[in-house]
Amino acid sequence: MAMLSIRDMVKGIKERQFTPLEILDKYWARIEKVEDKIKAFISLKPYQELKKEALFLEKNPEGRMTGVPIALKDNINVRGFMTTCSSKVLQNYKPPFDATVAELLKKEGALILGKTNMDEFAFGSSTENSAYQITRNPYDLSCVPGGSSGGSAAVVASGMAPLALGSDTGGSIRQPSAFCGAVGFKPTYGRVSRYGLVAFASSLDQIGPLAKNVEDIWLALSVISGRDEKDPTSSSNPPINYPGKNWQPSVVGFCPDLLEEGVDENIKDSFYEAISIYKGLGVTVKEVHLPHIKYGLSIYYLLASSEASSNLARFDGLRYGQRVKGETYNEMIENTRGIGLGREAKRRILLGTFALSSGYYDAYYLKALKARALIREDFRQVFTEVDLILMPTTPSQPFKIGAKADDPLQMYKADLFTIPVNLAGLPAVSIPLSLKNDLPVGIQLIGRHFEEEQILNAALMLEQERGEFPPPKLPFLCRSETS
Ligand code: GLN
Repeated sequence: MAMLSIRDMVKGIKERQFTPLEILDKYWARIEKVEDKIKAFISLKPYQELKKEALFLEKNPEGRMTGVPIALKDNINVRGFMTTCSSKVLQNYKPPFDATVAELLKKEGALILGKTNMDEFAFGSSTENSAYQITRNPYDLSCVPGGSSGGSAAVVASGMAPLALGSDTGGSIRQPSAFCGAVGFKPTYGRVSRYGLVAFASSLDQIGPLAKNVEDIWLALSVISGRDEKDPTSSSNPPINYPGKNWQPSVVGFCPDLLEEGVDENIKDSFYEAISIYKGLGVTVKEVHLPHIKYGLSIYYLLASSEASSNLARFDGLRYGQRVKGETYNEMIENTRGIGLGREAKRRILLGTFALSSGYYDAYYLKALKARALIREDFRQVFTEVDLILMPTTPSQPFKIGAKADDPLQMYKADLFTIPVNLAGLPAVSIPLSLKNDLPVGIQLIGRHFEEEQILNAALMLEQERGEFPPPKLPFLCRSETS
């Protein structure tokens, strides 16, 4: 039952082959077996409350997601849960409202199990920057799950829920999905409402789904996308269709740029495997170049940190944030932020404040904005020649816990291939292609603005050719329990 696609799960519930409670019990049993080792959740709803909701859904099975257990990253507000963003400064914050995505999912009958661990305020690529716990990669417990939506990726990969939401500012959905053998989709900027998402970098942030297969991602996108009056940056385009149109790409571009920037051989091999899969399917594959994406990392860290420094100013212990006392007003703010924020958050605030300060604004922030426009233009040009662009998702496979924790620059490089996509506001997916040394490798497909359906179709083709992706072995379970 737990291996069903979401569509079949909902269908089975509607046709009364099984009940939402039976589904919940399957996943709950799984959580009880694996969560102790994986540590993907920051908070979980008590079973008795979930049971009540499941019984209600049994009588009211109209929604398109009836009875589907889901998990949301801990920077997405859900009434009744804390939203900590994995930060000490928000450890007691209970939002009085639902994010639009949470509201939409609930309306369709999804069952929100809990909130997932992340890098503090989504700063990071390994989930090690959480103030609360280390999440482990289900494929190798000594490795990181990626980040910053590492908890969401680990939940899906270890079978604790069929669907999770994450947020992606520079790669935080796609990179952990690649590390955990999940499919992760970052929609076009503006496609999904950001209302109720705690802002990191408002010109880059997007919410998106992580799941085991493309079909489930498609359904989830159809539920969460669309115009929202509460988010002025949300687009007026209609929600993504599900089931959508069938479409075959005629030309896929492969972009070998950045491959010489210390990219692992296993990653390059998988990239070329993906190219030959498309060729084998009769798709024209053409080499393309994006001359400015090599500046992506530098541009991103200036812009994202600048926006973060401004967005995080609200956590001062007055309106938001766990207040730490001081003798004077300044001392109180100093204590609140000094104790409440972690090292990476402070690093970003310092960098961003510096880049925005008078005298440096033109040299850093403004220059980065201009360079961002060049990257957008690179993509626009290439998309006049091809329908989709194929690139690796990550430069490496999952690394060991602790391996990069003290080297911010190495950590930043984990998003080499994902960041340019956010800078251009484009939609992209990461889909798992193969296991190498028993660890997953993902491949990234990028599409034109608002052409999510084309990415999904092309991803389905790749998935069909690949076949079933091997689940993690989870060494602490006995053999009969592993799937
Ligand atoms: N790893 C990148 C960063 O640390 C991207 C994070 C994200 O997408 N939230 O900023």
